[in-house]
Amino acid sequence: MTVGLKIRREDMVVVIAGRDRGKKGKVQRVFPRDGMVMVEGVNMVTRHQRARPNLRQAGRVQQEVAIGVSKVMLVCKHCDKGTRVGFRLLEGGKRVRYCKECQETID
Ligand SMILES: [Zn+2]
Repeated sequence: MTVGLKIRREDMVVVIAGRDRGKKGKVQRVFPRDGMVMVEGVNMVTRHQRARPNLRQAGRVQQEVAIGVSKVMLVCKHCDKGTRVGFRLLEGGKRVRYCKECQETID
């Protein structure tokens, strides 16, 4: 199972491990090959940017860094819980994700 299938861009996820445990955010990018995701407002680091004439954001810049996908769980939009994702086949062969908490189809 590749990462890109379980967690997708624009998903709401909750962090379940590490410094940002409990934080929720929207997935901004997925890196399937690395098993990493970048989540809005999660795993922020401060980068120091040297002032340059044509650079607007000089000084300290807050920026997200990708975290391992095993550290996040999808937040189900039906039951609002961090949940594991299952897959089911619809009639016609389309594969959709569903919430293992409430069994609702996610997409
Ligand atoms: Zn649910």
